[in-house]
Amino acid sequence: MIPRPIRSMIQQLASLAYPPMCAWSGSPVASGTFADDIREQLLLSAQENLCLRCGGNIGPHLVPSIKGCDQCRDDRFWFEGVIRLGRYDGLLAEGIRRMKRLSGYGLARALAELLWEIRHEQLRSIPVAAVVPVPHHRWTEWRRGYNPSEVLAEVLAEELSIPLWPRALRRTRWTPPQHHLRGMSRRSNVKDAFQANRMRSIAGSHILLVDDVFTSGSTASESAKALRQAGAAKVHVVVLARGGQRWVEEKIVPKINAREDS
Ligand SMILES: [Zn+2]
Repeated sequence: MIPRPIRSMIQQLASLAYPPMCAWSGSPVASGTFADDIREQLLLSAQENLCLRCGGNIGPHLVPSIKGCDQCRDDRFWFEGVIRLGRYDGLLAEGIRRMKRLSGYGLARALAELLWEIRHEQLRSIPVAAVVPVPHHRWTEWRRGYNPSEVLAEVLAEELSIPLWPRALRRTRWTPPQHHLRGMSRRSNVKDAFQANRMRSIAGSHILLVDDVFTSGSTASESAKALRQAGAAKVHVVVLARGGQRWVEEKIVPKINAREDS
């Protein structure tokens, strides 16, 4: 990993030769990683009031609690809490789908930087020792060319100046994509599908687990279970987007999409 001061020096030199461009549209930008209108759409749901345990919306008048909300209080999770950038909806959902393509590496990094910009205080407040991405099965990674969650984890590890452990977890078997399934099927689909690799450093560590989307929490919880069973003291989860809540039906109008599709 490149140390932060050297990285920012390289970025400054690169920006002299190559003026910054929006990671979504490729149009020139004065600063940052996205043009202003794209950024506004990506952050439409970033300021909503959230449950600290599941990252779900709790309504504007409730006090966020680590004890959970009406939707997650009965669920047993192996992690302590969830930090998210926004809802899995509108342009953010489209961005996550795009970043999973072979050409999506730059967009994945830009979205991770946006996540850091908006949530850095919350992330810095958790005393995590290392960052671990939720792994893909090796066939999925081979087909996709890379693991977007690993790119998100790479950026967060750089920003937090802590180690990235990209191989701390592995999938023990291939599992069908979770978005094809519902409720209990999601849980049984990923049950015991993760295993922690033998690393002495996991024992006693507080780990930041990184994934792109959190829906039922089954994947995050099974990944956290593998880390906890390998001796991790605590696991916190961070994702770009939270899906699976009732508001998914109340679609945010994706203005930029409409413009692009026309
Ligand atoms: Zn909750």
